[in-house]
Amino acid sequence: MKSQSIYSSLLLCILTFTHFLTITAERCVDIPDPLNPSKQVIVDCPPTVNSDAYVKRQTTNFFEVTHNCTATAALCNKIKEAFNDAGKEISKVLELKQIIKVNATFTDLINPFLLGSAGPARYIPLTSDDKIIRSYPQALVKQFSLSTHPEYNDYDITARLNAAQNWWFRTDNGTIGSDQYDFYAVILHELIHGLGFISSWSNLLETLVDQDTTGLTPFPDFGGDNDSQFEGFLENIFDKYVKFTRNGVVSTSTDYTSQLNESVPIGTSFDTVEEFLARVKSSPQWEIAEFTLESATTNDSLTFTPAEGTSYKEVIYLESGLYPYDQGSSISHVSEKHYELTPDFLMTWSQDPGITLEFAIQRGGNHSSPIGPRILSILESMGYETESFPNPIIPTYEP
Ligand SMILES: [Zn+2]
Repeated sequence: MKSQSIYSSLLLCILTFTHFLTITAERCVDIPDPLNPSKQVIVDCPPTVNSDAYVKRQTTNFFEVTHNCTATAALCNKIKEAFNDAGKEISKVLELKQIIKVNATFTDLINPFLLGSAGPARYIPLTSDDKIIRSYPQALVKQFSLSTHPEYNDYDITARLNAAQNWWFRTDNGTIGSDQYDFYAVILHELIHGLGFISSWSNLLETLVDQDTTGLTPFPDFGGDNDSQFEGFLENIFDKYVKFTRNGVVSTSTDYTSQLNESVPIGTSFDTVEEFLARVKSSPQWEIAEFTLESATTNDSLTFTPAEGTSYKEVIYLESGLYPYDQGSSISHVSEKHYELTPDFLMTWSQDPGITLEFAIQRGGNHSSPIGPRILSILESMGYETESFPNPIIPTYEP
């Protein structure tokens, strides 16, 4: 999410579009700092017997936040309160089963345009119901209560908020200033990204080697000796429901991913990213990457079709109205053009200064929760359980 008007380039959502190395059944990808996407840690995540303690259903806040706050005690307390309120709000709409651990840092991010960022602390590969392996955010994997699961990171979500911004806290009971941002709204938005509201498609490959963006791909998976063998591009579970429209033809993210996986024989070894990218770009399948970039930057050309049985039945437009493509804002949000003035405003890419969450709720039709029906349906589709969607699709893990 970015902000508009004078703060038009405030970057809120540098997400985790970044892991380049191995994801296999025994290995997971940690993103220690969502602001430093090139720093990825490939970790062994051996099969682990589930020892999660039973969490009482009447728990009002399933989010346990570790705060790293160097501000005054008074300010740090307001931040804690905002996280606590956001955790309670999400716990009201999702039927969570396990505690979600958040590592939150409030510090000067040395970038006046940045509000903050958050994302899954670990991605875990699991097999979806259609037998395709996808990356799942750890916060979601925990909710599946698998009897054996890949080993977890200590944290599920990493969040960083910029202490140098002019924040407004609703707990102050004051009027928001025209250049202030509602901290609580930002936390809610970011925690939902941390739950896995993130696409795998990005311009990571070209960005890594300082090339202009000409196409998008999902995360490439590498393994074998020295993590040098290409093992295929990997979607996030979010992407299972994403569709790209081009010249009136609709293609699923899954189909595009499978076509891109024909670009280079699985098992081919590469010494460098440059070498790998050159090979992919010289293949006829690179046009798929170009097509996705075209859809991701053309209004109404990117949609999310909720899973069967979720609480929202219609197709949801994702953000494809930004040109040029903007990693962190494009794709991984609902369309601002369609939903800014609806109950689903929370997950649009931008936030206006001087607007409180309460005002945005009223402007959106005064829905009972800041988490609108489309947002909820996207979370349900990924596998989160809600009151109206009690039997989510559980992926499998075969160690
Ligand atoms: Zn965002």
